[in-house]
Amino acid sequence: MENRLDFKIDLRKKSFLRQLFEKSINEIYIFHPKSLKFFAVNQAARKNLGFSPEELSNMTPVDLKPEMSVDRFKRLLEPLIKGEKGSISFQTKHRRKDGTLYPVEVNLQLISYRGKNLCIAFISDITERVLIEDEMQEAQLKFDVVINSVWDAIVIIDDQDRVTFWNKAAEKLFGYSWEEVIWKKLDQFLVPGSYYKPHIETIKHNFLEGKGNSLDRVVEMKVRNKDGREVFIEVSLSIFNFKDNWYSVGIARDIGERKKLEEENKIKEERLRLMLEGLPTPAWLITKDRKILAQNKMAEKLFYTKVNGYCWEEIHKNKYIQKTNKDVYENIGVPLPDTKCYFCKADDALSRNESINIEVELEDKIWDTWWIPLGGDIYLHYANDVTKYKNIEKELYLLSITDPLTGAYNRRYFLERLDEEIERSRRTGSKFSVIMLDIDNFKGINDKFGHNAGDLVLKSLSETIKDRIRKIDIFARWGGEEFVILLPETTPERALILAEELRIRLNNLKIEGIKGFTVSLGIAGFRKEDDIDSLIERADNLMYEAKAVGKNCVRYEESG
Ligand code: GH3
Ligand code: MG
Ligand code: MG
Repeated sequence: MENRLDFKIDLRKKSFLRQLFEKSINEIYIFHPKSLKFFAVNQAARKNLGFSPEELSNMTPVDLKPEMSVDRFKRLLEPLIKGEKGSISFQTKHRRKDGTLYPVEVNLQLISYRGKNLCIAFISDITERVLIEDEMQEAQLKFDVVINSVWDAIVIIDDQDRVTFWNKAAEKLFGYSWEEVIWKKLDQFLVPGSYYKPHIETIKHNFLEGKGNSLDRVVEMKVRNKDGREVFIEVSLSIFNFKDNWYSVGIARDIGERKKLEEENKIKEERLRLMLEGLPTPAWLITKDRKILAQNKMAEKLFYTKVNGYCWEEIHKNKYIQKTNKDVYENIGVPLPDTKCYFCKADDALSRNESINIEVELEDKIWDTWWIPLGGDIYLHYANDVTKYKNIEKELYLLSITDPLTGAYNRRYFLERLDEEIERSRRTGSKFSVIMLDIDNFKGINDKFGHNAGDLVLKSLSETIKDRIRKIDIFARWGGEEFVILLPETTPERALILAEELRIRLNNLKIEGIKGFTVSLGIAGFRKEDDIDSLIERADNLMYEAKAVGKNCVRYEESG
């Protein structure tokens, strides 16, 4: 046998070889191939096992192997003894005298000694190695679990762009299994035009120059999935050097959904922009925090507003925010969270998710103002200057309730207010009075001085009365030269004082072209059983009483 270690004992070498045997740090056992009894066991073995030479002289290698029988061990030796194998190696466990076990690697060979065959076993204690292997296995397992359970595809290529690593997520993203891609060029799995190489070169360059991190940049590109579909991915690239070879690592994520959303948002934004421009007034898109997101050209031109500014500042120049909010903003440059114009209805519109439209009077202008929620805490805000229309509306209304000649209220408006006053008086028990007034001998004035002079009298009388009465009093032309005054919160006795004063004032009125005129007045106080007709009738009757007793006087009824 070539491999057999010929153990020819040369006397000169004997002691040297014995020393080699005895001092070897590996355990060495020599035993008889038939009886299996130990012939010699070196120091390293004795020390590790804990048996004395005497104890070992009666033992066999089988005694050291808890899972081995004599038969099995002999079968194991067979190929060696038959000369089929020069050596046999295997791993097993040895048991020490104290019962503890340790893993070993055994190498068995035959040696001849004085014409007989002996088995020699070289034993390496592989406790350390097994420990390291276990640790490595565990680390590998952890690595595999982590790498294969992450959602991101991880791909490693060597410096010839060949795939050397491809995790489960990569299989899913690209549609190719690990076996299909390993050692293939990465290019073929990308959509033409998806360049990563220049980026890797830059990273490498920067890294070598000491300028950048090896983990450098995120790029977007497209890969072609196995089924032909193009997938938008975002890849963070890094490089590393191992045994003088450069490798590139790409951690990729499918961003198709995100891209789609971005696309959709772009379309949405475009639509909003068109809508904004289509509005015939300055208009703004504003966030819940009242920051201007977008605006139309009109807004920019007429209000000089800026996108990203606060609406209360950009549109209204801080004029309508609370003083404390204004002070804070002006002092520290950051607004308090509730800063807004006092008339702002954005919060209501957003929380109720409905459009709010109110009129806002600012300085000498009236604005028809809208807050329209658009979803996602954004609202559209715009305002129409309706000052002109509002003024016309006001004028029309005023015309509808006043007498054009005298400017006094008309009978219809007076009756409405009288109705309300009766209502109020019934509810609160408040007193009020009505004065009925008629110009004496007015026909004569017309006849003597002309109709225009008569008109002038009517106007002068109205002005005089309007000047004298309170804001809450209602003075109206009842018809012809007859007038009524509604006096809320007034007893007939108090009304009498006013009536007398008016009578005298009118008496003293100097009107160009006429000699002067007098009036007769009747005063009725509201009684709880009254309605409009009964009250007016009593005032009218009292006025006629005044006429009957000679005109130019007041008749009243005492409080009921
Ligand atoms: P009395 O003292 O009894 O009230 O006598 P009177 O002449 O004032 O009463 P009468 O009802 O006889 O006459 C009222 C006149 O008022 C008749 C009408 O021509 C006149 N008149 C009514 N409306 C107007 C008006 O708008 N302008 C002018 N100038 N006259 C009017
Ligand atoms: Mg009259
Ligand atoms: Mg009359």
